[in-house]
Amino acid sequence: RFITLEGGEGVGKSTNLAWVADHLMHRGLEVVRTREPGGTPRAEAIRGLLLDPTGEEPLDADAELLLVFAARAQHLARVVRPALERGAWVVCDRFTDATFAYQGGGRGIPPGRIAELEAFVQRGLQPDLTLLLDMPMEAAQHRLEGRLDRDGGTRDRFERERSDFFEAVRGAYLARAAEAPQRIAVVDADRPLAAVQAELASLLDDCLES
Ligand code: C5P
Repeated sequence: RFITLEGGEGVGKSTNLAWVADHLMHRGLEVVRTREPGGTPRAEAIRGLLLDPTGEEPLDADAELLLVFAARAQHLARVVRPALERGAWVVCDRFTDATFAYQGGGRGIPPGRIAELEAFVQRGLQPDLTLLLDMPMEAAQHRLEGRLDRDGGTRDRFERERSDFFEAVRGAYLARAAEAPQRIAVVDADRPLAAVQAELASLLDDCLES
């Protein structure tokens, strides 16, 4: 089975991703934990191009979209499809819903164009379950500021973008969830971690039984 975790910056995605992988491993499953953009050496090199904060040359939105899908094609071929074929569970930090959110909502690429590449690269493959961690932007920014202080203030290109960008990202994620409610579970992340994880556990256990 193919599980993806999604959400904007500061919603607790990394912590919960590790928790989801552990939860499944404790149930005796083979779990492959990976991420996008990236997940293989070549796809990670593409991620480096996408997140490069020093480049003087702005990255064209279509070029960004194609790089995201180039990394995805490589990741699917080398990691995701082989793992699914041998019966492993794949837990992936971001997937195509992030493309609709960031390149679509954030950078303004029409969803129809993204959907064309989705069909081309995925050939029908979709996650079985997507856990969308959601919280109001002010709450996420508050959490992010704490993290940035601890990191000594390092930010990548995306994290420096304006707050209306993040609002658009959140809106696009929620729109995507409304279109595929059977696949995408919107989890209110603005709660104590234990409450969030109790909900994640029940969603995962439903997926295990189905
Ligand atoms: O998941 P993570 O936070 O590590 O992602 C790194 C950055 O890549 C994020 O800041 C996000 O804004 C950006 N990103 C993007 N488009 C994607 C996936 C991630 O702009 N499709």
